[in-house]
Amino acid sequence: MDINRELAHRPMASDKESFKKSIREALIHIIGKDPLNATQRDWLLAVSYAVRERLIERRMYTKRLFNQEHVKRVYYLSMEYLIGRILINSLLNMGCYEACVEALADFGIQLDEISELESDAALGNGGLGRLAACILDSMATQCMPGYGYGIRYEYGMFRQGIVNGEQIEHPDNWLRYGNPWEFPRPEKIFPVHFYGHVVTHREKGQTRYYWEGAEEVIAMANDYPTPGYSSKNANNLRLWSAKATRDFNLEYFNEGDYIRAVKEKAESETISMVLYPNDATASGRELRLKQEYFFVSASIQDIIDRHEHLGYPITELPEKIAIHLNDTHPAIAVAELMRLLLDAYRLDWDTAWKVTQGVFAYTNHTLMPEALETWPVSLLERVLPRHMQIIYEINFQFLLHVRRTFPGDNDLVRRLSLIDEDGGRRVRMAHLAVVGSHKINGVAALHTQLLKETLFADFYRLWPERFVNITNGITPRLWLNQANPKLAKLISTHIGQDWCIDLGQLRRLEPLAQDREFLARFREVKRQNKVRLARLIHKTTGIQVDTNALFDVQIKRMHEYKRQLLSLLHVVHLYNRIRFAPEEPHVSRVAIFAGKAAPSYVRAKQIIRLINDVAEFINHDPAVAGRLKVVFIPNYDVSTASVIIPGADLSEQISTAGTEASGTGNMKLALNGALTIGTLDGANIEIREAVGEDNMFIFGLRTDEVSQLRAAGYTPREVYEHNAHLRLCIDMIRDGFFSPSEPQRYRDLSHHLLSVDHYMILADFASYVAVQEQVDALYRDQEAWSRKALFNTARMGYFSIDRTVRQYAEHIWDVVPECWI
Ligand SMILES: *Cc1c(COP(=O)(O)O)cnc(C)c1O
Repeated sequence: MDINRELAHRPMASDKESFKKSIREALIHIIGKDPLNATQRDWLLAVSYAVRERLIERRMYTKRLFNQEHVKRVYYLSMEYLIGRILINSLLNMGCYEACVEALADFGIQLDEISELESDAALGNGGLGRLAACILDSMATQCMPGYGYGIRYEYGMFRQGIVNGEQIEHPDNWLRYGNPWEFPRPEKIFPVHFYGHVVTHREKGQTRYYWEGAEEVIAMANDYPTPGYSSKNANNLRLWSAKATRDFNLEYFNEGDYIRAVKEKAESETISMVLYPNDATASGRELRLKQEYFFVSASIQDIIDRHEHLGYPITELPEKIAIHLNDTHPAIAVAELMRLLLDAYRLDWDTAWKVTQGVFAYTNHTLMPEALETWPVSLLERVLPRHMQIIYEINFQFLLHVRRTFPGDNDLVRRLSLIDEDGGRRVRMAHLAVVGSHKINGVAALHTQLLKETLFADFYRLWPERFVNITNGITPRLWLNQANPKLAKLISTHIGQDWCIDLGQLRRLEPLAQDREFLARFREVKRQNKVRLARLIHKTTGIQVDTNALFDVQIKRMHEYKRQLLSLLHVVHLYNRIRFAPEEPHVSRVAIFAGKAAPSYVRAKQIIRLINDVAEFINHDPAVAGRLKVVFIPNYDVSTASVIIPGADLSEQISTAGTEASGTGNMKLALNGALTIGTLDGANIEIREAVGEDNMFIFGLRTDEVSQLRAAGYTPREVYEHNAHLRLCIDMIRDGFFSPSEPQRYRDLSHHLLSVDHYMILADFASYVAVQEQVDALYRDQEAWSRKALFNTARMGYFSIDRTVRQYAEHIWDVVPECWI
């Protein structure tokens, strides 16, 4: 018998009949249901299994290819992946959507109905996690040998409910009905240690370090194959779950303390239990530190294992792999790799450090102080004693270098140190990430410039060549092709389908801006998407909205810097204008908000409540009926974003200049033909360059004006006193106009605005209102509006994540594509 022939494998077919066979077999043999009485959810699972079989084959062939070709690999370490639903995305990427629709139709099942039952994989907070998901999609699409590593949270981002206008958080039990997309690998396990102490021995004239008495937790791999669009490659996302070392601690068990044995097992497994729901704030909790180290340690062990199994020497790590740190959450990896190289491989310090620096790169996502991770030295010493020693040594060597380069500048040494000595000693994780990396990038041109000028100015002086800008992008597969099939079809009938993998092709739509018939069709697509969005609004809030009205959309995490309050003040202003001048021909608007607040972020939750109170009041006032509506769509996630974005007319990107690193929601909306009203912040600046300033509404203070005003002493109360419209809006909120049952409800919030207003909402109000008037004026001319909207869609090619990933590959990772077939 020819064993190789027996083991040989031909890929499964993906035509309609093959799908029918797979679906029927999965239903009966995996799910165990009779097709005659299977539920919609059973069919969803069955079809998911049919896709999964084909997915894992692509993964197998891709893996073989990478091993055969000895490719250089890139490992993307991220605490978060905001993926959304997987079924439709996989079908579209693998090119078998139609076959699957038809196969199910023969069983009397509608794919678009059952696909709604799938839970979002919401293992992330917002933009940072969504960027990671887009990067995975792009790496597979472009055949990059890229691996994602993260945590398999049992509970992802909380589900947001709105009760009496307030946010309530429900646990996200996304695994309840089983998860057909993961391949648990119970044999792929690594020990991860916490606590204990370090023992030193002198051996052959060398000091050796042993980390002893530590607690052990097991990290178990769960693999999510991720298919590329149009490519046949599938990459791997490996998510770790925590397991107790042994199911029972035998000691306690034998002593008869069964309960204690089980309790300790449960406690070890809490590490991967839940995603921290803080967006853009550091959490500082011990469990969070343990999560970070847990997934970093398992990933680094796995990476080194693969490297060795492929037969490469440990000192050749930088030739064969790149490791990317998505923000500082995985920055402890720098100390972990050093620990393994020093203590397990017994490399000398300088060799180990050179390898480490050659491997790591780091993306910074924010300049805001509250988001910068620092860990108390005392906590690190207790949880990761050996790592703390290594961090001290890295710092010692680094500061030696600083002193040699800039002799006598002690203040510089204090500023650059990995240890912040002010107010309790803390390790600055961003400094560890910078010192340990050969490349550091910001995520938009302005952000990178500000990194060089402010947060990392001293580092930039030391190592200017390490800093690069790589502007974020989004995947056109999800955010245009999948989320907006009507627009995708209209585009493809004119320029073919290549735009999906070459978004620059959209430029070929530009000449159609002069074609009135095309513009009418473009408008009709928008109208149909607004109908779809109106249905979502009705289903989730009970509110009826007029699809002829301008859909004004602000969807993103609730954060003071993002200034949802500024658009809300404008809504109140519009309300007053309509009330006081009903005879004027006002443009009808629907102000649409969505976004979650961190459960502990009291002011952000108050803003949600205020939006809902204002909505409740305005939506029931006959004085503005048919002219103004306000809605807050609950539970903003990837799936709701996919419905809201195609139906948006106006995209609110109004953060205080200098605070939003890039934004990616801005890109999704512009790509889908929404006009942006925005500040010169983050990627808005580059979007303006791309689409043209005539096709965007820019307002407000610039970054330098914000800092100047702050330095000069900003007094929001003066702005308030000099603007009667603004004064009226704030007075109404402050005095309980929108909260008559509890008039004091927004006193503190209003007082904060009048006395502090850190994000300068009042300073930008007048300019914002003026530009909103231009928005109204343009909206009256539907053809002119849709022409500008088309210029947005046509000129957003630069913001494809494929361009972003190619820049990472070329300027940071030094990896090249390798396509299967
Ligand atoms: C894109 C996206 C974000 C990021 O939006 P910004 O406007 O850039 O903050 C957050 N959440 C979800 C669900 C997204 O899809």
